[in-house]
Amino acid sequence: MGSVGAVSDSANLGLPAFEPGWVWLVGAGPGDPGLLTLLGLHALRHADVVVYDALVDPRVLALARPGATLEYAGKRGGKPSPKQRDISARLIASARSGARVLRLKGGDPFVFGRGGEEALALVAAGVRFRIVPGITAGIGGLSYAGIPVTHRDTNHTVTFITGHGVTGEMPDGLDWPALARGSPVLVLYMGLRHLDAIAAKLIAAGRRADDAVAIISRATTARQVVLETTLGQAASDAAATAIEPPTIIAIGDVVRLRSGLDWLGALDGRQLDADPLALRASRERA
Ligand code: SAH
Repeated sequence: MGSVGAVSDSANLGLPAFEPGWVWLVGAGPGDPGLLTLLGLHALRHADVVVYDALVDPRVLALARPGATLEYAGKRGGKPSPKQRDISARLIASARSGARVLRLKGGDPFVFGRGGEEALALVAAGVRFRIVPGITAGIGGLSYAGIPVTHRDTNHTVTFITGHGVTGEMPDGLDWPALARGSPVLVLYMGLRHLDAIAAKLIAAGRRADDAVAIISRATTARQVVLETTLGQAASDAAATAIEPPTIIAIGDVVRLRSGLDWLGALDGRQLDADPLALRASRERA
């Protein structure tokens, strides 16, 4: 420890060496640089090439080894993003040239992040790889809004849904009635664009229009904004407040816990309610 710093730290922690010619697919977490994992930091300190996505914080990229090449692989200025095939080809070419290639993605690479597709392209090309999970927006983003994804009094299941597919349309093949009835908590990625239609489908399938909803914009960043609303009002409230993407949307009773668990709000003086679901009175009666 101490003087030799990063090298002996990674040895003490048993972190694997980043071998030349390998690709590491790493999740950077949802925004706050503090949510990067130690393996992610280790990878940044050793990578020769870093291929990164739009939602990765510049302060995380600044942790890269001096001399590393940083390559952007996201959308820029409204231009279409590079084709998935091109990104995979770039990773393969860099690895074959003997570089240590870090593919850095927002959140977790295997959660609506195409990490599986990129890794399968590496498999097909015979390139060795490692996956480093990250904190996903649908869990960590909710935490920063004071919303637990599960809570014993509200839900024993949670469902993660993508609000649009590859083409931007609503994803096909989702059984909305089953989701409405079977999953007390729904977490929507990329859900803002089709929120109106999604809410209508859930309500038509029997979900209450006054079901609690939180729309969390830029979760875990300094510009995080949380809009609390209801399923029936969510789309119009989102439009009225012009809430900006990226947003993660939580639907269900866990959202009500926020009045007790908004720890970030408490830093600004919000009084937290120790009984947000108003269960104390009923428990005392029982
Ligand atoms: N692999 C990522 C998800 C990629 S899909 C993960 O695990 O988090 C991109 C979507 O993720 C966005 O449209 C948004 O719905 C969500 N998202 C990612 N970062 C976010 C953030 N900081 N705040 C709110 N939503 C976020």
